[in-house]
Amino acid sequence: MADIWIMRTGHRPERDKRVTTHVALSSRALGAKGIYVDTEDPVLEQNIRSVVDRFGGDFTIQTGVKWKSVVKDFPGKVVHLTMYGQRVDEALPKIPRDEDIMIIVGAEKVPPDVYQRADFNVSVGNQPHSEISALAIFLDRFTGGEALYADRHGRMTVIPNERGKTVVDLSK
Ligand code: SAM
Repeated sequence: MADIWIMRTGHRPERDKRVTTHVALSSRALGAKGIYVDTEDPVLEQNIRSVVDRFGGDFTIQTGVKWKSVVKDFPGKVVHLTMYGQRVDEALPKIPRDEDIMIIVGAEKVPPDVYQRADFNVSVGNQPHSEISALAIFLDRFTGGEALYADRHGRMTVIPNERGKTVVDLSK
């Protein structure tokens, strides 16, 4: 599978702190290689890098990067998640699997140019919900769920447990 990248637009550090953190964590857990965020936010970068440091993988985060510069020379397809887009079940077979994809998710209002630039405007249902749920459902369907239990070779590893918590800390 080619690489999956996420572009988060409209991030307002104070207001969207929690949502954008969860967009980034969901991106990582569901198989993306990294996330770009349009507004500079060193605290967000630090929080996500701390998770990567403990739980592994090579997920990257870069903030203060505008969507136009991210997609300008992107060597793959751009997918914009929007409640106005074509149905996810109809879009998925059309999205090539041998090219990288850049998935754009918004906050309050997405610039109109995004709709024009995107190769695919995709809805996850036509009801308004959330960038976190839209991204999670799209990624799970796109990857067939293969990222969920992939080994990230982290310092901290969670062992699935029917009851209770089992965490192996390799640094001890
Ligand atoms: N009213 C905003 C607009 O029209 O741009 C939508 C804001 S919504 C809270 C934030 C983001 O969640 C959207 O930019 C989109 O990426 C995603 N989203 C929300 N509902 C969606 C849906 N049904 N399908 C796909 N993406 C969705």
